[in-house]
Amino acid sequence: MFSDRDSARADVFVGGRWRAGSAGEFDVLDPATGAVVSRVSDGSEADGTAAVDAAAAAFPRWAATAPRERSELLRRTFELMLRDRERLAALISAENGKALADARAEITYAAEFFRWFSEEAVRTAGGFGAGPAGGTRTVVTHKPVGVAALVTPWNFPAAMATRKLAPALAAGCTTVLKPASETPLTTLALTRLLVEAGLPAGVVNVVPTKRSGPLVSAWLADPRVRKISFTGSTEVGRVLLRQAADRVVNASMELGGNAPFVITADADLDLAVEAAMVAKFRGGGQACTAANRFYVHAAVAADFADRFGAAVEKLTVGPAADGHDIGPLISARAVTEVGALVDQAISRGAVVSHQAPVPEAGGFYYPPTVLVDVPADADVVRNEIFGPVAPLVTWTDEETLLRMVNDTEMGLAAYVVAGDLGRALRLAERIDAGMVGINRGLVSDPSAPFGGMKQSGLGREGARAGLEEFLETQYFTVDWR
Ligand code: NAD
Repeated sequence: MFSDRDSARADVFVGGRWRAGSAGEFDVLDPATGAVVSRVSDGSEADGTAAVDAAAAAFPRWAATAPRERSELLRRTFELMLRDRERLAALISAENGKALADARAEITYAAEFFRWFSEEAVRTAGGFGAGPAGGTRTVVTHKPVGVAALVTPWNFPAAMATRKLAPALAAGCTTVLKPASETPLTTLALTRLLVEAGLPAGVVNVVPTKRSGPLVSAWLADPRVRKISFTGSTEVGRVLLRQAADRVVNASMELGGNAPFVITADADLDLAVEAAMVAKFRGGGQACTAANRFYVHAAVAADFADRFGAAVEKLTVGPAADGHDIGPLISARAVTEVGALVDQAISRGAVVSHQAPVPEAGGFYYPPTVLVDVPADADVVRNEIFGPVAPLVTWTDEETLLRMVNDTEMGLAAYVVAGDLGRALRLAERIDAGMVGINRGLVSDPSAPFGGMKQSGLGREGARAGLEEFLETQYFTVDWR
């Protein structure tokens, strides 16, 4: 069994101490083999409440620390993550299955949130203004929102945690964190690094659990919790928003995507293939920003399909430890769901034009697949695939293209590859998505405000905006006569 911990099964971190969860234990599986990687403590609602007790007790003191002190904790954690990059990457691959190259890139990206917010922590500023009628002045200031509940998904076990923890701590919030039950080990390892960096007791509390619904509901019902920051599916996000409404809890939601990838007739096709490979196959297609549907201009559709297909056929698929390009999907269920989307497309006339081989036995594998002649309303186009399948749809006129691109309730990421940059920008502006990659297949960047429109979410993570999600605004109006 793969174990990264000094004392296995004391995995609930509350008030600066590791302890066993009171609901028993659960298995973490290696998606490459289906074997148990490790057993982890199962936190109960009582553990969740103890976590809130600790976070609430630590809040006044943490909120009052000098911003420089918070900044330095984050900076040290950034450095420790880079020091331990290989170990952390191996842990991500063991519990999530993603290729080692992708896992290393995730650690670098995840660590950058600590560096970025260590720099932002000392730059919270307010405003000062004169009342229009004279006789008053207004001072605008910010303060941390309070105890923040953070809930993360399995697809980026490190980055989704640091993208929340770093701004929350920079702002002066204390936190209770629930990692995805598929991938708690990376979060537990990150917590140890925060402790090594000097984290005060109670500032970060972590409760792994198989009982996500009851635990998070209890957090949302607790009057001491003033913020929920959730990353995951739109379906669960909706449930949490309803619960948050009961107590008017400040909510940030990073939800599902269905990213279009547009290729124009004048695009550089080598660049298009390079960007498409990154946008589609990073993490085996299990990213909220993954290109979900390709709209290729009819004049270059056959050429693009050939070149893209040739690159896809070269992908090696297998366990991360063996250095493959693509790992397994997260679960057997995910393989069934991706397969159902492909079968439905084929029943509607789509054709598999290219595919890479997968290992014959063991693991939750689905072959990287290119589908051509896909009807624009096939399920594989309309639903989030979350797997290594690229459906290609052709287009000829821009108005029809934009109608197809925007005909979805999702609006997270989009991609445009075009020769004429002005045209790419004009197209991008008309796409209802929070982030548009132009002539590149990667949109994520700690210095940019990551987030979605429509049912892809509420709020932003990263950049200055990510810090503001954890701050309240307050003003003082002052008699000035
Ligand atoms: P999920 O919604 O099933 O789970 C996300 C988290 O919520 C996990 O920690 C899970 O244990 C927990 N959870 C599940 N049911 C819950 C409930 N009833 N109450 C409270 N918590 C609950 O999502 P997932 O399968 O882990 O992740 C995949 C989804 O996440 C995809 O839709 C993907 O697009 C989305 N995602 C979005 C972003 C983004 O930034 N917008 C980033 C990564 C993933």
